[in-house]
Amino acid sequence: MKKIAILGSTGSIGTQTLEVVRENGDIEVLGLAAGNNIELLEQQIREFHPVLAAVWSEEKAAELRIKIADTDTKVVSGMDGLILVSVLPGTEILVTAIVGMIGIRPTIEAIKAGKDIALANKETLVTAGHIIMPLAKEKKVSILPVDSEHSAIFQSLQGNEHGAIHKILLTASGGPFRGKREEDLLNIRVEDALKHPNWSMGQKITIDSSTMVNKGLEVIEAKWLFNVDVDQVQVVVQPQSIIHSMVEYVDGAIMAELGTPDMKLPIQYALYYPKRRYLPGERLDFWSLGHLDFEKPDMDTFYGLALAYEAGRAGGSLPTVFNAANELAVSQFLKREIKYLEIIEIIDDCMHAHKNIANPTLEQILETEAATYERINSRR
Ligand code: NAD
Ligand code: MG
Repeated sequence: MKKIAILGSTGSIGTQTLEVVRENGDIEVLGLAAGNNIELLEQQIREFHPVLAAVWSEEKAAELRIKIADTDTKVVSGMDGLILVSVLPGTEILVTAIVGMIGIRPTIEAIKAGKDIALANKETLVTAGHIIMPLAKEKKVSILPVDSEHSAIFQSLQGNEHGAIHKILLTASGGPFRGKREEDLLNIRVEDALKHPNWSMGQKITIDSSTMVNKGLEVIEAKWLFNVDVDQVQVVVQPQSIIHSMVEYVDGAIMAELGTPDMKLPIQYALYYPKRRYLPGERLDFWSLGHLDFEKPDMDTFYGLALAYEAGRAGGSLPTVFNAANELAVSQFLKREIKYLEIIEIIDDCMHAHKNIANPTLEQILETEAATYERINSRR
């Protein structure tokens, strides 16, 4: 039995990870961590019997302890709780399906404890990739990508030498506003931005997909995962989300991973790597598919993507500013406190006010996050 723990078990990736566990029947879940959906977490505890569960607020944790008093699961809270789940003795893989750079410390602690990481939490790698990747190497742990594009790249790299990579072709659906101009985006409401054409995901990443900031985060994520320059990563709009990404080699050969959009495939691949398992679900039928389309991304309208390249190229603490500004701006947009286009204006403003720190420590990353939040909050 493979033993795992999951950060963010009640979210989109977390619940799909548990579906994969349920369907395979040979993975043991020793730890679960969630934000504050204790109703769903209780159901998960009763089904999967983890030894430890973490909830963000101590108040909710206390409520959960009463609800599950008849079980053997211990409940912890806060950052300490998240870390306890991350380093739980006996687990081999930590699935990081939590949202945001709050995942940095738990991920670092898990690597130090020798856990392989099935990584969905891209914000962590974007902001702390320069700490995480060398640490993983030192501790001989694998960082297994769960993000569909990065899993596709990882799959396309199997059997090939890293030195032979010419470039990475990172595909993008283009989101719900593909083809729109800035003037069409002035009055976008939360409901409009939450309608993704191909994937059903958590709210934050769905907004990020609509602004193309998600693709920008993925460009930087690819830089760290595959040790390439951001300018070796070319974004290709593939509106059907059938080609999940590609690798072009020095001889011009291109390897790709294709399939119907289903996150359970990359999740399962990460959990069983290097083995492939049967996965139920719809299969790609080329006879009915007919054609695939490709476009160049519109980085003038969706200039969050251009800002991501700028942050990725500069490195240091600038990707943290890009990410932190986006995290707060998106949460303000979701609360209807700012307009849609302000998300990118805020990122732009924060990035250009920032004095870059080369090679920031964890402390400096967290200070940069706090300073970015302070700047945004002082706008109103
Ligand atoms: P989500 O909002 O559906 O779920 C987030 C999970 O994190 C929830 O379980 C929530 O309770 C938990 N969480 C949030 N704050 C927490 C805290 N302070 N402490 C403990 N738990 C906390 O998000 P998601 O769509 O599943 O995305 C998770 C991560 O995976 C993100 O980084 C996202 O970019 C990435 N990702 C998601 C998808 C997808 O299809 N959903 C695809 C690729 C990458
Ligand atoms: Mg993705």
